[in-house]
Formats: sequence, C-alpha cells, structure tokens
Amino acid sequence: MIVAERKPFAEIEAMLAPYKKVLIAGCGTCVAVCLAGGEKEVGLLAAELSIASKIKGRPLAISQATVERQCDREFLSELKDPVEENEAILSLACGAGIQFLAEIYDTKPVLPGVNTTFIGVNEAVGFWTERCRACHECVLDQTGGICPKTVCAKGILNGPCGGTVHGQCEVDREKPCAWTLIYRRLEKTGRLDLIRKAFEPSRNSLRITPAYQTHAAYKRRFEAHE
Ligand code: SF4
Ligand code: SF4
Repeated sequence: MIVAERKPFAEIEAMLAPYKKVLIAGCGTCVAVCLAGGEKEVGLLAAELSIASKIKGRPLAISQATVERQCDREFLSELKDPVEENEAILSLACGAGIQFLAEIYDTKPVLPGVNTTFIGVNEAVGFWTERCRACHECVLDQTGGICPKTVCAKGILNGPCGGTVHGQCEVDREKPCAWTLIYRRLEKTGRLDLIRKAFEPSRNSLRITPAYQTHAAYKRRFEAHE
C-alpha cells in the first residue's frame, strides 16, 4: 500500500486561504487504510476547518466527497458535479491520485492535503513500515524476501557494509541490520548459498521517468507508448 500522512492543519489552512468554497476529496483505498485521507479523515478535516473559519470569522463553505480510488479515471468521474460547484479541491489522496485529479479537472486548483511517504505494510493499527522503492529490478528472490534497497539504511546490494554490530545497523542502533536479517532468513529457508552471490551494479541510474506499464492484453490499444 501507499502510505501518507495528513499535512499540518496550519499548512492546509494557508493553502485554502484564497478560497471560499472548497471540496475536500478523499480516497477510499491506501490513504483510508493509513488513516490519512479516507471518508472519516475527510469528515474530521471538514469539521476542523469549519470550526476554525467560524472562530476566525472567515467565510468558508466545505463540501466532502470520497471516491474508491483517485488513481482511477472511472472513479474520478463521480466528482464532476462537486468539482464544478467549488472554487478549489483539497485532495487527501496520495501524490498519484492528486495529480490524476488535477489532470482530469484541469480548470480548478487541486491542492495536496497529505504528504505521501512510502510504499509499505500495515504492521499494526497505526504503524506502517516502508518495504519497497519501486526500483524496477526486484531482487527479493535472492535476498530471502527482504529488500536491501529499502530496509538497509545505505541501500547496499552487496552487504553487509562492515558496520553491523551484534546484528544492529550502524546508522541506527535501534534498527536491525538488513543484511543480518537477510542472512538469517536465507539460513532459515535453506538457501544460505545465495549470500555469496555478488549483485551487478544497479541499473537504476538509467531508469527513465515517468515510468509506464502496459498489460500484454492491452498492448495494441496503448501501442503509442511502446
Ligand atoms: S528490490 Fe526492493 S525496491 Fe526493488 S522492487 Fe523489490 S522490494 Fe521493491
Ligand atoms: S549495518 Fe546493515 S543495514 Fe546498516 S547500513 Fe550497514 S549493511 Fe545496511
């Protein structure tokens, strides 16, 4: 999932200062799971903004709408009417959703209400950890299902770095060394021979952005991208 956190209230208030009619647009997928931008968070932010505007004597009308996914054209069409009725849209989706919303409704200012932080997992209620950097060259088959590019503080592909002390990372002693975790996982799954493998330098520097991906069944439809 994509993890995000809501921007500080003062920053949101400052962004909305030029507008009197604002739509807060939530997303019901990743940002809802990480309690940053789902229907409930849209409601809470709308209430906070209404109270603050009343206290400050500043007129502000707020509408609310949450769609299943803001990174999907099909669901964004549901926002057509509320977008038209408002001067600006504050999106609580991840950075991808915010950009797609801004692209589709390109005559209205679309503002970010969250900071997108990483691709991660839900470890426990209210606790998420980063697990992937979308590198295009997944090595998890050779590293025991632990990503060295993300979990290692230095992103080292041929670790450990030499700073490991009793299995902890030299950059942050509170955190386990990724390469110690990789060693133990490979040992546990009977694949310790893989620890001797030397990885070639990553080709990430050659990566062209923005990336795109077409499913094989849709290649003809989107062949302009090929
Ligand atoms: S190697 Fe790590 S960053 Fe790259 S795709 Fe796999 S999990 Fe993601
Ligand atoms: S101690 Fe381990 S996790 Fe920390 S930077 Fe070195 S190899 Fe990476």
